[in-house]
Amino acid sequence: MSDTIEKTMTLQEWFNEMAAPEYKAELLSAEEICAKFAWLIDRPVCCGQLVEVRNFIGASYHAECKICGKWMHDVSVQFGNAWVQFLPEHVDDNTPKRWIYSYGAK
Ligand SMILES: [Zn+2]
Repeated sequence: MSDTIEKTMTLQEWFNEMAAPEYKAELLSAEEICAKFAWLIDRPVCCGQLVEVRNFIGASYHAECKICGKWMHDVSVQFGNAWVQFLPEHVDDNTPKRWIYSYGAK
């Protein structure tokens, strides 16, 4: 079992170290970002249409409006075209504050 591994780093600390400079930010909860965007958390609508939401094993990790470009992303889930990268086991991701966002291309 791996449940004895000590959580020595918060998700925010880990993100501060690994994130590219343009993405560094305070992590927020999905609710906080949806409030900024005026999106409904259960059924986000933006620019008159449903926002595209991507899920992994039942949990959303990315939402994006294809029209205005607003997006939000769970930093604990990193996807490439053919891979998933999980968090190192010493990172404590037991927090709702795990999302970054952008208002889209400026
Ligand atoms: Zn939009």
